[in-house]
Amino acid sequence: MQDLTIIAATGTALPAPRQNRHYIAGAWVDSAGDTIDRLSPAHGVLVSRSADGTAADAEAAIAAARAAFDDGRWSRLSGRARAAVLLRVADLIEANVDDFALIETLETGKPISQARGEVAGAADLWRYAAALARTVQGDSHNALGEDMLAVVLKEPIGVVSIITPWNFPFWILGQKLPFALAAGCTCVVKPSEMTPSTTVMLCDLLAQAGLPAGVVNVVLGYGQTVGAVLTAHSQVDMVTFTGSTAVGKQITRTAGDTLKKVALELGGKNPQVIFPDADLASAADAVTFGTYFNAGQCCNAGSRIIVHEDIADDFVARVVALSRRVAFGDPLDPATQVGAIVTPEHAAKIDAAVQAAVAEGASVVLGGAALAVPGLGPQFYQPSVIRGVTPGMAIARDEVFGPVLTVLTFRTLDEAIALTNDATYGLSAGVWSENIHTCLAFARAAQAGTVWTNTWMDGFPEVTFGGMKQSGQGRELGRYGLEEFLEVKSLVMRVGRTRTPWVNGP
Ligand code: NAD
Repeated sequence: MQDLTIIAATGTALPAPRQNRHYIAGAWVDSAGDTIDRLSPAHGVLVSRSADGTAADAEAAIAAARAAFDDGRWSRLSGRARAAVLLRVADLIEANVDDFALIETLETGKPISQARGEVAGAADLWRYAAALARTVQGDSHNALGEDMLAVVLKEPIGVVSIITPWNFPFWILGQKLPFALAAGCTCVVKPSEMTPSTTVMLCDLLAQAGLPAGVVNVVLGYGQTVGAVLTAHSQVDMVTFTGSTAVGKQITRTAGDTLKKVALELGGKNPQVIFPDADLASAADAVTFGTYFNAGQCCNAGSRIIVHEDIADDFVARVVALSRRVAFGDPLDPATQVGAIVTPEHAAKIDAAVQAAVAEGASVVLGGAALAVPGLGPQFYQPSVIRGVTPGMAIARDEVFGPVLTVLTFRTLDEAIALTNDATYGLSAGVWSENIHTCLAFARAAQAGTVWTNTWMDGFPEVTFGGMKQSGQGRELGRYGLEEFLEVKSLVMRVGRTRTPWVNGP
């Protein structure tokens, strides 16, 4: 072991496994299908047993959402009335942070302190979306001629399928569901088959908050079965998806048959560019955060380090020293900063990416192997720093989704920008310099949906988020996060008696 900071098993007693069923038209529904077991990645114990939904389950949920939309039980409420419900949901989430966080930790393997932050942050998303519900507004045109008036309405788009991944299940649901509800849509949600529980737990709170039955429906199961129906069905008006780029492309193809709107939040391979005049202590700390947060299983992982060649050795030494101090281990210990890898298969993929880089000529400065945590299962990976990487190597281009950073070097601003944009992804990028001109020149040129300057991964409900290139389409959060769920309709009206007949004469 390479002198790392490891937190052994706490031995905390775990709760009895949850039984998760579908939630359709306001009722808990058993599936005709099988069940899916989820073991805690850190502890190897059963956390939840969930319905393995069928196409028929998905169709029943879509029918419920369609009926709820078409009769206007939600879509025709005032924004104020919708906001009141969303605010009650936010309060209820806050009152239940600990219960949600524990299950989120057990299903994902993430540290309990971060799960609490995720759940509390999600409550804030619901609160922000509630405020947006009262801002739905369109346009008017009153200079079209004396007797003409046009009004451009913003209307809810209709029935929305929401498909979410396993890495931040409750937060990502919060980036979508309350915004869709604020717009007046009805929804069918499919959480990841690995992390369904907090989405299911939310259904109870929605009912308590007074959300009418059928407005939100949850179908559990796999992407190829339930997800495929949710994206193909003619009665669904929009799909909003967060997950891998490969599945995002598949969803675009499936949804294309009915030309439904598709919003995608996909993968990233995000650079942090370090200039010699940067505050190197802060930059090194942010690089460790960007690399190891959620064990690197993060679309916004900032682990593609592009550092000026004059400071590369010094900077890597700082990062390695800090990496040894990051606390890896039992997610149930409040001191833990990095938990487990989501599945054994994924842990093997991370290691394969590192070994492939070594085979291509890269060298491992730190880590590069599984991490043994006393008393816990095998699904942990060491903090890993890889040098000798060239821009063409797979490890410099593909999402590793593990606690692994790579180092590339540059000499000029133009080179740094070229390396940044030499990517199929365009989710986020970062620049570290004390020179505002350097920062702004970089930020304007970077092909990324978010550019952080002298910071990494700060997010706010108010600030729009999304990806360029193969990192996605559409935007979440902020005003745009509401607009995604609104359709535009123009009403053109003659308000005087001056219309010239097209057919003249008797
Ligand atoms: P994934 O694409 O494997 O699965 C995501 C969801 O899609 C799951 O619910 C899954 O069941 C479902 N799915 C799978 N196949 C489907 C199909 N054919 N049709 C419909 N649904 C289907 O992704 P994952 O492994 O759960 O998550 C990791 C990925 O998500 C990474 O690539 C990461 O970068 C990305 N991600 C992006 C963001 C962002 O905001 N841009 C945020 C978090 C995660």
